[in-house]
Amino acid sequence: MYDRFDRHINYLRISVTDRCNLRCQYCMPETGINLLHHNDILTFDEIADFTREAVRSGVTKVRITGGEPLVRKGIVTLVSMIAEIKGIEDLSMTTNGTMLGIYADDLREAGLHRVNISLDTTDPDKFAAITRTGAIKDVFNGIDAAKKAGLLPVKINCVIRESREENSASAVTRFCKENELEIRYIKQMDLVKGHFWKVDGGDGGDCSICNRLRLTADGRLKPCLFNNIEFNIRELGNKEAIRLAVGMKPECGSFNANGSFYNIGG
Ligand code: SAM
Ligand code: SF4
Repeated sequence: MYDRFDRHINYLRISVTDRCNLRCQYCMPETGINLLHHNDILTFDEIADFTREAVRSGVTKVRITGGEPLVRKGIVTLVSMIAEIKGIEDLSMTTNGTMLGIYADDLREAGLHRVNISLDTTDPDKFAAITRTGAIKDVFNGIDAAKKAGLLPVKINCVIRESREENSASAVTRFCKENELEIRYIKQMDLVKGHFWKVDGGDGGDCSICNRLRLTADGRLKPCLFNNIEFNIRELGNKEAIRLAVGMKPECGSFNANGSFYNIGG
């Protein structure tokens, strides 16, 4: 699929839940979150049907994200349903890694190709402060499990405040070198204020080459993370929602007052 600006749209990111077992300070408030009702959340069949239509339309790259995708009940089954779709060349997941120790082998067997794991520091106390609830040893376990399961290449997403030279990020850089992990640095963003940047080491945040569509856990298809536009797949049907989202994908992001990282998926 090509949009109005001749960008080749072939990448779908699916948020499978707005729930998370962590509360990263830059992503979720500590309390008072309005979570989706069970009935609003797309079923596995709805997600698989939508993905099939997207692949028919030219999507070859799919990423599963959240919230934390591994807290969605039955996630391994969902991964296998998506993995069965012919035409997906790259099937990945973005996860905080805390539950990969439990799921890595099953995910690989279900057909997941690789994972991105979020890690902003190597210091247990800083990690606990950033995530408000997390234990860093779970992420280290998860990284090991992902490597052993062959979910390769394992990439690390490191959120930075200003630069990759700051202390926490430098420590994560060293950790990645020692453990043969790829790293990308994501400067902290603010969707509502329209503060967004190119991802250092990745393709995200660069409007001129953006090839993405995003499906939220409650079935809103968003052509741009930094824009309010969205199309409800339940109301419009999969095909029409895709046609409209690609047709109205903005040239460049501006701001998004309609969602947050944890319910769009980053
Ligand atoms: N729970 C999973 C995780 O943390 O990897 C997947 C969902 S999370 C919303 C996806 C990515 O968005 C993570 O790498 C996270 O660090 C990033 N993220 C969350 N809030 C952000 C913000 N305000 N600015 C930049 N990146 C953010
Ligand atoms: Fe959860 Fe990921 Fe957001 Fe952290 S960044 S609160 S792990 S969804």
